[in-house]
Amino acid sequence: MNDMIQVENLTKVYRSFKGAKEVKALDQISFTAAPGEFIGIMGPSGSGKTTLLNVLSGVDHPTSGEVIIAGNAMDKLKRDAMALFRRRKIGYVFQDFNLLDSLTLKENIALPLILDRIAPKEIEQRVDELMAFFGIADLANKYPYHVSGGQKQRAAAARAIVTNPAVCFADEPTGNLDSKSATDIMGMLTQMNEERASTILMVTHDPFAASYCKRIIFIKDGQINLQIQSSGDRKAFFDKILEILSVMRG
Ligand code: ADP
Repeated sequence: MNDMIQVENLTKVYRSFKGAKEVKALDQISFTAAPGEFIGIMGPSGSGKTTLLNVLSGVDHPTSGEVIIAGNAMDKLKRDAMALFRRRKIGYVFQDFNLLDSLTLKENIALPLILDRIAPKEIEQRVDELMAFFGIADLANKYPYHVSGGQKQRAAAARAIVTNPAVCFADEPTGNLDSKSATDIMGMLTQMNEERASTILMVTHDPFAASYCKRIIFIKDGQINLQIQSSGDRKAFFDKILEILSVMRG
């Protein structure tokens, strides 16, 4: 099958005002991801991780290079088509959950489908199925401020995949969670990946979270520094990640 994500020579230069010097945040990044991969992006602070996620998800434009997701060249999409593409094909899990406080968990999860004018009966079906999958069916009518961080992140993960997106991006999904909730949500992402064949690309600085990935791409100074593949032994992968990070930090 074709690649789900194709990234070719991706470069992003930030140009500041008034002659301040340019920053090359991404420098000729190329990689591909097959459908159903679970990839972690790691690297020191300032290495370009956030920029990479923003450019891949269409939040920001590259200076040069190409991003193709599920066969769609992102730079060919006009503004409206891009908005639609992002809503339907890309799911996003954020560090701070980004749930709307005025909506119940069920309404939060349904929101992308409501915006897409999907028939109410189908919305009901899909949302109920996902709430059961993520073990939060009994919290359907609770508001985000009534549930724990881990439960919020479960709802956020359900919302991210409610449209059956081609790719799910996760930006430090364990960043605001205690270690029990972090374990919990990484288990859920793994289940999403293995049981629903979701393609996941996750930025994290947390070696524990990264150890759940199948492959890690390390970036440094905007370039791919190293890629490693998990053998399936999570403890061994965790130790390897720690070792690489300590070498990268010098
Ligand atoms: P990371 O997520 O790995 O910490 P970033 O992608 O945030 O890295 O940043 C990469 C580089 O780009 C850094 O040098 C950062 O200072 C710079 N940078 C990020 N965003 C901007 C911006 N909006 N304008 C100018 N420079 C930026």
